[in-house]
Amino acid sequence: MTIDISGWMIPLDPQADAVDYFLLSADEPCCGGCVPRNPLTSIEVQMAVPLAPQAEALALRGRLVRLIDDPAGWRYRLVDALPLDPPRAPQRRFSRRAFLASGAAVGLTACAPGRFAGYTEAHAETTQTTQTAQPAQSETAPVWQAPPGTLTIDMHSHGGRVIVSRNPVIGANRPFIPLAAPMRAGGMNVICLAIVTDTTVTRVADNRKRFEAWREPQPGELYALGQTEFLRAHQLVEREQIRVVTNTASLTEFGPQGPCAIISAEGSDFLEGQVDRVDEAYTKHQLRHLQLTHYRVNELGDIQTEPPVHGGLTDIGVQVVQRCNALGIVVDVAHGTYDLVKRAADTSTKPLVLSHSALATHPSARSRLITPDHARVIAGTGGVIGVWPSSGSFRDLHAMDEGVKRMADVVGVDHVGLGTDMLGFISPPVFTSYKQLPDLASALLLAGFSQTEVGAILGGNYLRVFQASVG
Ligand SMILES: [Zn+2]
Ligand SMILES: [Zn+2]
Repeated sequence: MTIDISGWMIPLDPQADAVDYFLLSADEPCCGGCVPRNPLTSIEVQMAVPLAPQAEALALRGRLVRLIDDPAGWRYRLVDALPLDPPRAPQRRFSRRAFLASGAAVGLTACAPGRFAGYTEAHAETTQTTQTAQPAQSETAPVWQAPPGTLTIDMHSHGGRVIVSRNPVIGANRPFIPLAAPMRAGGMNVICLAIVTDTTVTRVADNRKRFEAWREPQPGELYALGQTEFLRAHQLVEREQIRVVTNTASLTEFGPQGPCAIISAEGSDFLEGQVDRVDEAYTKHQLRHLQLTHYRVNELGDIQTEPPVHGGLTDIGVQVVQRCNALGIVVDVAHGTYDLVKRAADTSTKPLVLSHSALATHPSARSRLITPDHARVIAGTGGVIGVWPSSGSFRDLHAMDEGVKRMADVVGVDHVGLGTDMLGFISPPVFTSYKQLPDLASALLLAGFSQTEVGAILGGNYLRVFQASVG
């Protein structure tokens, strides 16, 4: 169905000169940090030709596609879109009523009241300072000078749209998006590029806050999905000319030269309980970072977002940890319950990683956040916890720096890292592009960390664990 539709552009990469992918919001964006929290307030847009970011409302013509179980939770996508020229919509104060009347009955809900008239100007300000309340800091913000030998490493990323689509029509044909260019632009040297192997049996839960498993996989189904996902990861890195690093020597040699990836898996569902498949993934797919569980209670253990079934890590989970230790694979216990983490820590002879989470301020059941004790178990192994830029925890990048500081206060700065979970969120996070890395580093300096400590948080600590685990 070809439609005309108007709204405000919300680019995921607001610093780009031209974008071919963005969100179109029914409501004028509130402020730089305000991206739609609810998939019902906006639609995805893929342009036929790239368009410069626009502060004003704009009108587009394109083909409207209804999305089924989109990983990000979006309901509609406008594809092959072109700007209507001259714009049919008024340039300012384009109303929600007009948006609804313009062709797509997309079931929109209201956003918070506006604080800024124009999104782009407001965002330009916030991306320099990360604090809308203190714009003067853009002139005085300290610049992080990476100490010699520092590597920046994202402990958890689905960048480039490596994961297959939940929409069975798109599936493994999901188009990639650029990855190396934003890494270069922001100075991100290395990412742990994480495939996901429970995608076809998980969906966005009714509360739209997280994913949940909704059916049992067929025997062999998740192994096959793993093969597809590993293939996509390798296709992506080849397309993007990103070098896969498989040991500390290649990491430290190639990391400073250009974008590198450590092949990772979020969830060990593709093992289907067969421990020897860890060896296969190590050899055949260059897997060097394995997260035991994800959104499905699998053969390895319990997850934070579902009631416990196994009492933590299973005996198979123990064997997988031992196999990772023996082969040289980083063990990641993100999404696992506290009981799982404790048994993993007792089992592992190498430091553990918890790649993406944050400290809970109010404990709540089935939360992906962690308690100080949970964090201390990781630190007790010599490991690292990646702070996660979830908009549920942090309203903007500055708040995220405070979150990093709180984590460092609990476990010590040597045990804190960055796990952006790039392109893995239902609601857009506060760190949406690697181009924001200098802003994040600058805000960490403002939060009181030294230049060296920022280097440890942004990569040095993970490097230490990788070296200990992989060799
Ligand atoms: Zn995750
Ligand atoms: Zn993830």
